[in-house]
Amino acid sequence: MSTIQTDTLVERDRQNVWHHISPYNEASPPTVFTEAKGAWMTDHKGNKVLDGMSGLWCVNVGYGREELAKAAYDQMIKMTYTPMTQSHQPAIDLAEKLNEYLDDDYMIFYSNSGSDANEVAFKIARQYHQQNGEPSRFKFISRYRAYHGSSMGALSATGQALRKYKYEPLVPGFLHVAPPDSYRRPEGMSVEEFNIQKAQEFEEKIIWEQKETIAGIIMEPLITGGGVIIPHPVYMEKVQEICNKYGVLLIIDEVICGFGRTGKMFGHMHYKVKPDIISMAKGLTSAYLPLSVTAVRKDIYETFKKSEENSHFRHVNTFGGNPAACALALKNLEIMERENLVARSAELGKRLQNELADLNDHPHVGDIRIKGFLMGIEMVEDKETKEPATNERVGKIIAECRAKGLIIGKNGDTVAGYNNILTLSPPLSCTDEDVDFIISTIKDVLNHNT
Ligand code: PLP
Repeated sequence: MSTIQTDTLVERDRQNVWHHISPYNEASPPTVFTEAKGAWMTDHKGNKVLDGMSGLWCVNVGYGREELAKAAYDQMIKMTYTPMTQSHQPAIDLAEKLNEYLDDDYMIFYSNSGSDANEVAFKIARQYHQQNGEPSRFKFISRYRAYHGSSMGALSATGQALRKYKYEPLVPGFLHVAPPDSYRRPEGMSVEEFNIQKAQEFEEKIIWEQKETIAGIIMEPLITGGGVIIPHPVYMEKVQEICNKYGVLLIIDEVICGFGRTGKMFGHMHYKVKPDIISMAKGLTSAYLPLSVTAVRKDIYETFKKSEENSHFRHVNTFGGNPAACALALKNLEIMERENLVARSAELGKRLQNELADLNDHPHVGDIRIKGFLMGIEMVEDKETKEPATNERVGKIIAECRAKGLIIGKNGDTVAGYNNILTLSPPLSCTDEDVDFIISTIKDVLNHNT
């Protein structure tokens, strides 16, 4: 492709495409990618980069899998579309397959995105309480720093103020508590004590808000986009205990943590919890097609079955459960099983842990947090004071990784000043050579920025 054509591509983009959550930057136009295979992407100028973020933490089996395209193609030719007011075999097969991982305890509701899956979770929770004789329960509690999506309800649950303030007022009834950010716990307090204290914030909130008004708690098994905040197991146990005590539904957002990302099929499986509702998206299809799921405990579903009381769930979306997307998701799960990608994720997490341990001595590395093939490195200006690293310092590291051919991310929360966490979430299908490259690039760049 000639330079004139590629420049034209960027210019055409500039004229017509409004980009997601990206400030306009005259000097630095968006990269136009043209090809991708495995963990590697090629841009319109022919540069190759390893995608250490799997797109938006989603291309879990890697790029360019022909058998996924074929599964979708075959289904499109056979039977293109049926609304989910009716049914079709890929939806049935996929629901059964998901239930294999979930002890057959859940009903599967299909939508299109992670935000959709969470909206459905909120609506089901509110309706469930109404039909279960507790109509006053309408509020949800989530954590500051967590991200749960961009639609109005999911954004209301999100605990990152900068994403929200220009779109307010949002949906009433969404409350927040502090996350279990163990790295910043008070001096002298153990991680366990601190996590118990943070879990108790849910109980305090429930009591202050009047316990009969609380419908649910929504949380990721570990906060991903808010800066990879991994709870101590005692935190999740305590949250489960509080949900049980107050009749509050536990909604677990597995949009990123699901499908092997943390070294188990679902992130909550690291902890002693039994979610009432689970939202899934991203890795469900490895982002080859849009599809999401809200998995709801069968005992909750019972209250929606009494059709004589008009108690069905009044929610429909046109594309959710699209047959090609369901067929593709099944093939995606088949690949994950065949290639042992969940175990591989756990193994790669251990590799990161061992081979990046030296970075703990780096003057600007405050904390390294890893669960499966998912990592956050909290960068600081000063290890003693834990003052968050400046945007300049973090931006330089990301740019240098990129110049060497590795995409990594930056996450955290801008309002609170913690936008200082380098993130890594590569395809679980990375080869050993890919992982060598990721590790050596991160080490080189950090050691060059002391
Ligand atoms: N929940 C979590 C934890 C997410 O990270 C995201 C997206 O990044 C969402 C929900 C929303 O998913 P989507 O972008 O598919 O609407």
